[in-house]
Amino acid sequence: MLNLMYHYIFPKSFEKSINGIKFTSQEKLRKQIIKLKKKYTFINPEELNDIDARSINKNLCSVTFDDGTKDQFKYAIPVLDEFNIKAFFFIIGSVFDKKIPNSHLLHFLLNYKSDKYILNKINKIFFKNKLDYNEVYKISEVYNYEKNKTRRILKFVLNFKLANNYYQINQFLINELGKCYNVKDLIDIWFGNKDDIKQAIKNGHYIGNHTYTHNYYGSIKNIDVIKNDINQNHELIKKKFNFETRSYCHPQGGDNGIINKEVSKYLKSIGYKSCFKAVNSGKIDRMNLPRIDNIYLN
Ligand SMILES: [Zn+2]
Repeated sequence: MLNLMYHYIFPKSFEKSINGIKFTSQEKLRKQIIKLKKKYTFINPEELNDIDARSINKNLCSVTFDDGTKDQFKYAIPVLDEFNIKAFFFIIGSVFDKKIPNSHLLHFLLNYKSDKYILNKINKIFFKNKLDYNEVYKISEVYNYEKNKTRRILKFVLNFKLANNYYQINQFLINELGKCYNVKDLIDIWFGNKDDIKQAIKNGHYIGNHTYTHNYYGSIKNIDVIKNDINQNHELIKKKFNFETRSYCHPQGGDNGIINKEVSKYLKSIGYKSCFKAVNSGKIDRMNLPRIDNIYLN
């Protein structure tokens, strides 16, 4: 089974005006679907959640979008509609309480400040200028798709090296962004709103749980904190969208190890039917569904 992972989708013509992110163009999304349709049968989220284990290895393909950003509702759904494909959209609850995850703050800030400026500032504030960029580069293979060396280092420092300083980083990014942008506007511009999500549900798409905070497991460790993060988002989705989700996606890929397993076990115990992770590895079962990032498709 092939599970596709998508993040940002914009028209190709936006390439020159967006600096902080790597996005898949609508045109590319359409091409990928046409090609994959020759080999795979696209499966609806509801069908996947009901499928029995023996059928799971067939030539099935599911489509997932992470983080619930605005572009997915505006630019990806119209392309999916052309093929009548229904997808999973994994949303982050804290956004609806006007809190922006660090990764998204960074994506947006990079439209205004260079990678080098941000990295040097972080080095100064959090490492007293002692961070060895070459050393960080060596251990940052998780971002090997990132061709810009400084950006790769920056992302690794923020998401992994400083995982325990999540709230200080959040404040730092908000301060920096506040110098060039009205941060309050970012929620509406960057994330799908209540109407976007309600409309997606109405059209047969599926809203999944991506935790309330989107925090990396490595910075939490305590499984009870992660369970709360899951429950909080589950309740938010239920209350705000009248949708009882049964699907989950680990934030930032999870840990691909022991915490992922614990989380899957917990999800199963509260009635979840599917759980996705970021990498394409391991034994496939509905509570451990590997995905391939579309950027690796031809
Ligand atoms: Zn995510």
